[in-house]
Amino acid sequence: MSNRTFTMIKPDATEKGHTGAILEKINAAGFRIAAVKMVHLSKEKAGEFYAVHKERPFYGELVEFMSRGPITAAILEKENAVEDFRKLIGATNPAQAAEGTIRKLYAASVGENAVHGSDSDENARIEGDFFFSKLEQF
Ligand code: GDP
Repeated sequence: MSNRTFTMIKPDATEKGHTGAILEKINAAGFRIAAVKMVHLSKEKAGEFYAVHKERPFYGELVEFMSRGPITAAILEKENAVEDFRKLIGATNPAQAAEGTIRKLYAASVGENAVHGSDSDENARIEGDFFFSKLEQF
């Protein structure tokens, strides 16, 4: 089991000024920030990141959304990081997210859902390496 996961604070949450509050919640839940930066993804880069969803009907919308403004990308460290972070962010659709989760608090819809959280140890490593060189991971 790995002790790292990867997250993005998505453009909707950035636009609404929730970046600080979300990072605070992440820290309060016991995650250590091992890497962090703000990035404005091009459509090409957003498409590459979400290539696994290429055949899904919402792929175009997702790429438009994720490239419309800056995101905050971060690598987070904690025991059982992937699973515990998915619990902290809540269900993909904020209407189904548990009380107190980041998506329940800050997300507006299934598409614009405030945060990303890796779904496996392997994807956490791939996604972290997509944004951060080895020299930028602490
Ligand atoms: P996650 O692992 O909880 O982020 O969910 P998925 O891997 O299923 O989907 C990836 C991302 O695609 C979600 O976080 C949403 O931003 C977006 N997404 C998922 N389903 C929909 C949808 O039905 N419509 C739109 N517009 N976006 C979606």
